[in-house]
Amino acid sequence: MDFRWSAEDEAFRQEVRSWLNEHLVGEFAALGSGGGPADETGWDVRLAWEKKLGEAGWIGLGWPTEYGGRGATITQQLLFNEEYAKANAPARVSFFGEGLLGPTLIAFGSEDQKRRFLPGILKATELWCQGFSEPDAGSDLANVKTRAVLDGDEWVVNGQKVWTTLAHHAHWTFAVVRTDPDAPKHKGLSYLLLPMDQPGIEVKPLKQLTGSAEFNEVFFTDARTSADLIVGAPGDGWKVAMGTLGFERGTAFLAQQLHFQHETEQVIDYAKKHGLTGDPIVRQKLADAWIGVQIMKYNGFRSISKLLTTGSPPPEASISKLYWSHWHRHLGELEMELMGPWSEVLAGPDYELEEFQSSFLLSRAETIYTGSTEIQKNIIGERVLGLPREPAAS
Ligand SMILES: Cc1cc2nc3c(=O)[nH]c(=O)nc-3n(C[C@H](O)[C@H](O)[C@H](O)COP(=O)(O)OP(=O)(O)OC[C@H]3O[C@@H](n4cnc5c(N)ncnc54)[C@H](O)[C@@H]3O)c2cc1C
Repeated sequence: MDFRWSAEDEAFRQEVRSWLNEHLVGEFAALGSGGGPADETGWDVRLAWEKKLGEAGWIGLGWPTEYGGRGATITQQLLFNEEYAKANAPARVSFFGEGLLGPTLIAFGSEDQKRRFLPGILKATELWCQGFSEPDAGSDLANVKTRAVLDGDEWVVNGQKVWTTLAHHAHWTFAVVRTDPDAPKHKGLSYLLLPMDQPGIEVKPLKQLTGSAEFNEVFFTDARTSADLIVGAPGDGWKVAMGTLGFERGTAFLAQQLHFQHETEQVIDYAKKHGLTGDPIVRQKLADAWIGVQIMKYNGFRSISKLLTTGSPPPEASISKLYWSHWHRHLGELEMELMGPWSEVLAGPDYELEEFQSSFLLSRAETIYTGSTEIQKNIIGERVLGLPREPAAS
């Protein structure tokens, strides 16, 4: 396989690099890449940066031009992410809009919905959160109990969502709700778009291991949204939600490996700086971490090749998810080991964490969200290995 890029792709790379050189300055450059799409480190600066990206047309790179995107190829999206990670640019804040809802609307939304919502995502003026999980519906998403009933020209929604990342910053939520309680579990669901700023929606923060509260409980009490803000038809909720999860497990991983490469380099630098590289066990662990980055890189290329030929994320995306989430856990543990006793000391008041501490703690969640380890193994078993379906729980 030839991994070199075409002249056209190299020109695109140069365009990205020049733009970042010119604009990634001052407070934006000072922030670094810290955190991830699901946390709020340096939120205000990141939001201002996201708007700059939007103005310059770097959001929705792969979206069709007729909807304001750039129609970039997957290779170009990869190159953008590579340059972005190399430049140590701020973690993106529009993951839920750009990464999840936008592609879902392009695939399943009405023309009116696309015209209404895609521009706000492209300019980062409207932020979104993902209202899927509930107290009894996580891995078993089809168990959603939040109810929506049509009342004239509005849906009226009652129930509760949980683990809703960044709901306190979001203007809108895309939620899976039950619209037909008499239909079989997967068939009675619908996919609604609801404005967050209304009396019927209450957002309650959930404090995490990191000391901050990036995700929330969201309570709906006669919350309302317009009847036409349903994506697909009533009863299509499962199909549309699976589309969203496909995007979550698919192209959104492109940037990940590059971010991890950068983090591994920081770990190696830390070990050198603190005179730890003479320890043979540390040396072995550093080498293992680096090998893991290379495996992710080539496995990423493999998934991208499949994506290019089939047009949709392959089930092997689950292999990537499993691999990176466990690899990152181990890297976090190595970071703590290298920091030694300092790993247990806070950097400052108000639970201020060092980058390694924060990364270690956040890595514990990575084997849960976007489909837990066990669920990924089920997917690989059934869709890659062709094993019989898991027996239904009694
Ligand atoms: C940091 C973070 C951010 C999140 N952000 C969002 C968000 O923005 N929006 C949103 O909707 N959700 C979000 N989630 C929720 C996430 O999608 C769920 O946590 C995940 O789907 C697991 O569901 P659960 O927590 O209910 O656990 P459960 O589904 O109850 O699982 C509990 C345990 O049982 C295992 N298990 C479950 N079913 C099976 C099975 N069939 N076979 C084998 N083992 C099984 C699981 O692997 C897990 O170990 C977030 C979660 C985290 C940790």
